[in-house]
Amino acid sequence: MRKPIIAGNWKMNKTAKQAVELIEELKPLIAKSKPEVVVCVPYTDLWAVKDAIAGSKIKLGAENVAWADNGAFTGEISAEMLKEIGVEYVIIGHSERRQYFGETDQSVNMRLVQALKNDLKPIVCVGETLQEREKNKTKKVLKKQILEGFKGIEDFTNIVIAYEPVWAIGTGKTATAEDANKTIGYIRSLVRKTWGAEVAKSLRIQYGGSMKPTNAKELMAMRNIDGGLIGGAALKATDFAGIVNYKG
Ligand code: PEP
Repeated sequence: MRKPIIAGNWKMNKTAKQAVELIEELKPLIAKSKPEVVVCVPYTDLWAVKDAIAGSKIKLGAENVAWADNGAFTGEISAEMLKEIGVEYVIIGHSERRQYFGETDQSVNMRLVQALKNDLKPIVCVGETLQEREKNKTKKVLKKQILEGFKGIEDFTNIVIAYEPVWAIGTGKTATAEDANKTIGYIRSLVRKTWGAEVAKSLRIQYGGSMKPTNAKELMAMRNIDGGLIGGAALKATDFAGIVNYKG
């Protein structure tokens, strides 16, 4: 059985003070929830959020990790730095990093290797743009992102994949549950073909893209969907809790 995982991606939102306020509001709302709950927050919020979630079931995540151990990499944050704070999860290869900051499948792979080497649990994002979808290139794009992004990786125990169609991120447009399930099914079959049945069976694959309390139940009911990566709705405690508590 794959345990569902709901992760918030706060992006560039919330000062440390605002972050603590959000966590304090969220804690009682999700205290009895069944899924694994993660909040991936800006680097500047990590220490404050780490203290605020203490004793709760919320786990701490960052939004990226450097591919080098240390050194002359201005603006980057190393795995060792994140580990010292108590970070457990890291998002890698989010489409906004790919779109605005030149992230490639190769740099995704390097960050992934570094995260695993340091016992950080990666949430690796993949997904097609609207243009690619309209040209029927979804499978081709996902195949490249996965085969190149996960090149050389053998142990998937700590890895989560987030399938996020770029056209659904922050747009209010959600893939239909059937469509998301089908595409995630394709990802799972590709993983099966490349890394074997056991890996494919246990690998958790989330859906991400305008997930909200009103569509979470339907998406989460799908056989292949093991959770959600949540952007906008993660910034409001009641919305995020509504998704975490999708079973009611
Ligand atoms: C995301 O950024 O990972 C995301 C899914 O955003 P949103 O939920 O706002 O579409």
